[in-house]
Parts: sequence; C-alpha cells; structure tokens
Amino acid sequence: MDYQSKIARNISAIPRSGIRDFFELVQGRDDVISLGVGEPDFTTPWHIREAAIYSLEKGQTTYTSNLGTLALRRAISRYVGGFFGVDYDPDGEVLVTVGVSEAIDLALRALLNPGDEVIYHEPCYVSYSPGIVMAHGVAVPVETRLEDGFSLRPENLAAAITPRSRVLMLNFPTNPTGACATRADLEGIAKLAIEHDLMVVSDEIYCELRYDGEPHLSIAALPGMRERTILLHGFSKAFAMTGFRLGYACAPQPVIDAMMKIHQYSMLCAPVMSQNAALEALENGAPSVATMRESYHRRRDFLVRELNDAGLDCHTPGGAFYLFPDIRKTGLTSREFATRLLEAENVACVPGDAFGPSGAGFLRCCYATAFDDLRTAADRIARFTASLGN
Ligand code: PLP
Repeated sequence: MDYQSKIARNISAIPRSGIRDFFELVQGRDDVISLGVGEPDFTTPWHIREAAIYSLEKGQTTYTSNLGTLALRRAISRYVGGFFGVDYDPDGEVLVTVGVSEAIDLALRALLNPGDEVIYHEPCYVSYSPGIVMAHGVAVPVETRLEDGFSLRPENLAAAITPRSRVLMLNFPTNPTGACATRADLEGIAKLAIEHDLMVVSDEIYCELRYDGEPHLSIAALPGMRERTILLHGFSKAFAMTGFRLGYACAPQPVIDAMMKIHQYSMLCAPVMSQNAALEALENGAPSVATMRESYHRRRDFLVRELNDAGLDCHTPGGAFYLFPDIRKTGLTSREFATRLLEAENVACVPGDAFGPSGAGFLRCCYATAFDDLRTAADRIARFTASLGN
C-alpha cells in the first residue's frame, strides 16, 4: 500500500524532530551525562505526590467537568490573579488541559482558519511550528538574536506582519534561550498586536523560574491585552510535575468556549488525580518552588562560568533552565559540535538548530541536572573544546 498517499499532506510535510534524531544517537551509550532533556531533575515534591495518592485512595477515579474541577479552577484563578495581576473568572475563563502541550494545540486550532499566518519568535520550543501546521496555519518565524538577548524586538515583529497575520505566539522566559522580554519590548509588541488586531498566545510555562531579580511581566497584564491574549501555564516545570501532564489556559470566555469544544471531544478532561495534585501544588507548593528555583539559579551561575572558561561564549539568560552558548568560533556546526562532543566525551547537548534555523551556531544545555553531573559535564566540555584547539 502507498501509505504516503494515505497520510494527510500537512502531516507528511512536518519534519521529524531534530531532538529525536539527536537522541537516537544517545540511545545505547553508557555513562552519558545528558544536558539534553528539558525536564527538572527533581522528583515532584512529596506533599504533591501524596495528594495524588490520597485522591486515588479516596476512590476519585472518574471524569471531572470538562473544564477541570471547580476547586482547581478557583485555585488557578487566585494564583494567576496574584502572580500575573490578571483576573480570570474560574467559571468560564479557565480551562484545565493535559499539559501546556494540549493548550497550545487547542489555542491554535480554535483561532486559525486554513492559511492564516502565525508569527512566533525563533529559536523556539520545538512544537510551535508543527502545531501551527497541524492547525492548517502558516508558520512565520521571526529570528531573535544574541545581541538582543534573544528577546523579540518590536521592529522585527513589525516587519513580519502581513494582512494574513492572525496570531502571535510568545514564550518568555524562552525555551531554548532562557530569554526574558523587557517591559519596553512587551509594550512595543502589545502596541503592534492591537494595531494589527492579532490574538496573542502567550506560553509562560517558565514564568516562576527567573533569576534576574525582575518580576515576571505577562503581556496579558498590559493595557488592552487581556482581551486578546490566551495565557498558557502549567505545572511541569516550576513544580517538577512533567509526568502529571497538567496545564491550563486563561482567556476571555468566547475563546475558552471555542477551545473547550475541541477539548471536550478530543480529550474530555485532564486526569482527576493530577488535578488534585495540582490543587495541592497551588495551595502549598510555593516553598518547594522557591527551593528548586534557588538550586537552578546556583547551577545556572556555575555552568555559565564553566562554559565561558572553556572558551565558549555563553551569555547569562534571565530565566528557564537552559543555557544557549554560541559555538560559532569553533568552526563547527551545531550538529557537528553536539555529535563530536557526544562521541568524544559522552556529554549530550541539543544542537541549537533543533529549535529552528536561527538556532544554528548554538547549543542548548539544560542545567536542571544534578550538580555533580554538571561539574563532570563542564570538565568534559572543557577537555573537548581544548582538543579543538581554537
Ligand atoms: N511550552 C514550552 C515552552 C516548553 O518548553 C514545554 C516543554 O518543554 C512545553 C510547553 C510543554 O509543557 P507540558 O509538559 O506542560 O506539556
């Protein structure tokens, strides 16, 4: 059978993930230190796990409301109101999803008609461009640069806007660069979104993980933006809950209603034990988040210093848990560097171009890795760069 002709054209057109390709090389190697996977090395704090266990012990094994339990939606509304300074009604403006991943998919499918353009800043999280294509949209990346701290400059955004532009996707702090947008940049971006009537999908999954002393500012909090923003957040990163698969979207009711239509027919609801664990995370998780953030902060400072000492140009990003060193002066491509580092020293980092062509010449190193492993990885990277003789 010619399966290729049976597969939807837009799905066939999506390339394989560059991360997956690279990690196939990692499989089967012993003694690899991985700075590759974007996942906290902490186990979910015990009191949160206990809430999930208790939920099962009580026999809570059923569906919940499609929107998520009212108790969790109320807690999300309180948390978002306090953290972002934006109020959402738990009864219609908050939707609990299976991770931010599902929320991204719902937002794009709810907003896009075929051929609509979605602008996003690149390098970016690997699912954005495929997510846009799966929703029948057209992906329009805008390159961000090291010189601008990988923030999205309003003038670069302005140049990408066309009459077909419909949605702008933002992710600050950014995976893979750790970039944080300044207030001035966000205000410039908001002005353009309003002028050109764009909806904004703002993925703020790393918002608690900032180390630059600046309070996190959501574009939804700027004047005129709440009404045109879908704010996405979740529990995977700051609460170390990746396996619970829980996220949420906050937006005006007509937008949540549209996302709900897709969610109720494709997912029904998020798992009830994860929702109960997330409620505990919001109510009592702040001290654990603070402890983990402090630990990431120490590790960021350590690895930035080590990579610079090893001769790589590594800026100090303000958030998330990634470094994005510039490896261009080694003369190697991102892929050559990552592959040779893996082969010579058993350290896995992700080639920067896995996050879009504008990541070429960089490497993503996730420092959510045990300190001893980071120390060993840093020594091995230094030995590798010394062997290149640059
Ligand atoms: N958005 C960004 C920017 C991410 O980096 C990730 C995971 O790495 C996700 C979304 C997916 O998060 P979740 O585990 O909530 O689906």
